[in-house]
Amino acid sequence: MTGNLEKYQLNIGGEWVDPNSGEWFESYNPFLGKPWALFPRGDETDATRAVDAAYKAFTEGEWPAMSPTARGALLRRLGDVYAAHAQEMGEIEVADNGKLIAEMAAQNAYVPQWYYYFGGLADKIEGAVTPIDKPDTFNFTLHEPLGVVVAITPWNSPMLLTAWKLAPALAAGNTVVIKPSEFTSASSFKFMELVEEAGFPPGVINVVSGYGAEVGEALVKDERVRKVAFTGGSMSGQRVYETAAAGLKKVSLELGGKSPNIVFEDCIVENAVKGAISGIFAASGQTCIAGSRLLIQESIHDEFVDKLVAFAKTAKLGDPMSMDTQVGPVTTQPQFEKILGYLDVAKEDGAELALGGARAERPECGDGWFIEPTIYTGVNNQMRIAQEEVFGPVLSIIPFKDDDEAVAIANDVVYGLAAGVWTQSIERAIEIPKRIQAGTVWVNTYRAVSFVSPFGGYKRSGLGRESGQDAIRDYMQTKSVWISTASEVPNPFVIR
Ligand code: NAD
Repeated sequence: MTGNLEKYQLNIGGEWVDPNSGEWFESYNPFLGKPWALFPRGDETDATRAVDAAYKAFTEGEWPAMSPTARGALLRRLGDVYAAHAQEMGEIEVADNGKLIAEMAAQNAYVPQWYYYFGGLADKIEGAVTPIDKPDTFNFTLHEPLGVVVAITPWNSPMLLTAWKLAPALAAGNTVVIKPSEFTSASSFKFMELVEEAGFPPGVINVVSGYGAEVGEALVKDERVRKVAFTGGSMSGQRVYETAAAGLKKVSLELGGKSPNIVFEDCIVENAVKGAISGIFAASGQTCIAGSRLLIQESIHDEFVDKLVAFAKTAKLGDPMSMDTQVGPVTTQPQFEKILGYLDVAKEDGAELALGGARAERPECGDGWFIEPTIYTGVNNQMRIAQEEVFGPVLSIIPFKDDDEAVAIANDVVYGLAAGVWTQSIERAIEIPKRIQAGTVWVNTYRAVSFVSPFGGYKRSGLGRESGQDAIRDYMQTKSVWISTASEVPNPFVIR
């Protein structure tokens, strides 16, 4: 501890170490608006040290000698250790990112499922004996790990998004360097204590913190890194993709969204109102899957907006550690300012303000970075407020006439992460999801994710899929092994 600030260290090769720079930076508690922890400022030297350790653990010692079954057992042990610390992990994340304890405790209690699921999958990835078309030849395939994987995460759900990458990467036999967000690295450091308790060999999992342009970029560039698994903003994702391309690395990208939540006239209105609320005000709108464009069929538009505004007005803002708070602060000051900027943009674009539209000055919000739950009506899909990711509690309502228009508006953005559909029609429930350009479509629900179901983006929302059985393939490569049983080598100048 330095003063009352928790001072963390990097974890490389199983050791707690100071950053090469000798520098730490402050992490703010978004509710208090004050620093609460000091994170090490990692640099290129630290990136190299971490990749050295991960590469060594991949090529020598206990980890590469371990059977997939033993790896699976270790992952499940990590799941158990994590489950025992889920509440504590949730509390650390609330101090760092200001999300509600109600959400972060539940989210962290769910995290072990990724370690259980991929632990179970570790020894079920089978190669094949191919029906080879050559005489005197035996040919089979092996699915092998890639090597060192870099996992880069954002600030909104640090440990959940780490698990999405780490669990399949380790199940496949890779080693990993985690680069958490510079705003929310605390849970990743605490996580390394759990990794140690579970009994992972040193260097299999490493954590280096710091800024994206410094340590993040250096990790992506390192020649020995064979895959980068990234979740974050679209601009940073594009940059990571370009940097990784130079080294011909595998990349998976989970990026931003501008998801349509589509309310048809035949929906159960009370449920759809709750779905709209959960889409945009849960987590203060700071989720990639936020249903930030609410498309409402014209015939029920006014009635729906009245009910939605009335419900949103009751939202309880305040201390994220209190179980009855419903909307917490924005996680970072730059993000807070960005959202305020978008409120000006909406005004300039001519959107009509139905609720909020300003910083929340309520006494229960103290000095925290709070934005009033905000609803705009009369939004045209071409407005910036409808096209750009705000990443805050700001909803744009866009009316539509019929199914074709709803689908056209839904798809008319560069993103394609998620969508919601509210209807009682079985035809719509089946046909509309097929027509929407998004990696996830929810019908009569919103914001559901699972370790079992693939998650990822269409268009500029990303590349690759996390969760579900196929995710592990993104962390593997296939080898073809040929064995000749012929007694002599035929003409060596001719291809066999
Ligand atoms: P960000 O892009 O600023 O940062 C994400 C991470 O990337 C951080 O760890 C950062 O340090 C690192 N980084 C930044 N530039 C880098 C570079 N050049 N090289 C290597 N690393 C670099 O994003 P953020 O503000 O932390 O998170 C919010 C964004 O994340 C939103 O756009 C949101 O939609 C997106 N997000 C997507 C998903 C998803 O699953 N699709 C989930 C959560 C958040």
